[in-house]
Amino acid sequence: MKKYVALILIFLLLLSGCAPQAQERHLYAMDTVMTLQLYDGSAEDLDACEQLIGQMEKKFSVTLPQSEISQLNQAGKAALSAESAALLAEGLQISERSGGAFCLSLYPASRLWGFTTEAMRVPAAEELEAVRPLIGDEKITLAGNSVALQAGMALDLGGIAKGYTADRLAALLAEREVKHYFLSLGGNIQVGGGKPDGTPWKIGIADPDGGDPAGIISLEAGAVVTSGGYQRNFTQEGKIYHHILDPQTLAPAQSGLKSVTVVCQSGTEADGLSTALFVRGAKGAEELRRKLGTFEYILITEDDRVIVSAGLKEHFTLYNPRFTYEE
Ligand code: AMP
Ligand code: MG
Repeated sequence: MKKYVALILIFLLLLSGCAPQAQERHLYAMDTVMTLQLYDGSAEDLDACEQLIGQMEKKFSVTLPQSEISQLNQAGKAALSAESAALLAEGLQISERSGGAFCLSLYPASRLWGFTTEAMRVPAAEELEAVRPLIGDEKITLAGNSVALQAGMALDLGGIAKGYTADRLAALLAEREVKHYFLSLGGNIQVGGGKPDGTPWKIGIADPDGGDPAGIISLEAGAVVTSGGYQRNFTQEGKIYHHILDPQTLAPAQSGLKSVTVVCQSGTEADGLSTALFVRGAKGAEELRRKLGTFEYILITEDDRVIVSAGLKEHFTLYNPRFTYEE
């Protein structure tokens, strides 16, 4: 019997042109389409990944009433699981390091804009002013696993939850000895081990206006996370409003960028920082890169220039000639 199985496997391998085929799965979770490709993994490994994504969504989703975060938002305080407390702590650190551009407590404002409900609209200035006292991550008290919010405050981990999930998937795959993988969780890419043929993964940087990829990054392992106003927005009276809010104005950030891609080892950090850099703009992005030294970036400006940070230049190739590459 074993012999037959081996023969069938060899036959299938020949049919596929001898290229190792990925175990692949598409799923919809965390409000986005995900694709998981494991080049030396099994269907069981994919099942384990899918299960983990489900668990993370149940914990962190701000729209599922039973999630830990929703429960915290309703009660104003909570004894979190060790994992949620650790993610909250990491989010608070990114918030502080980014000079407040990344802000976990914006939810009362983004709720007014309707970005999580699909009933999107432009709130009146008075409505936004009314929630301003509820916003500011320094008002969150985290001690061990216990968290307390001030009355009326509400948190949203939407800016880091996918990145954290990608980190958890990378750890799970390492445990299961799966080395070569390409995970796409919406705008969050997490890769490991290079391609099975020993060359780095090639990751396309989306054209925010929907054309061919602006450029390609080569990367062995790590996180590549893109934030952009094109990912979720609505139009009212001819004006486009997107989902990344500037904590100072409580309105969609206007920093001259169409998208920000952050490349670093940690998915969580890449996710938080891509959101933060989108708020800070090109100058603020470079300042933060020099200060932290943990990440590199690719910015696409409103006038279609591509700015690549110094440490990433040799791994980046412009693909779409519509863009101007600032070398
Ligand atoms: P991302 O797609 O990672 O850039 O995250 C965008 C999501 O993060 C939004 O859908 C909101 O849930 C949340 N968000 C929006 N603006 C901010 C901000 N300035 N800081 C932190 N989270 C934000
Ligand atoms: Mg993010």
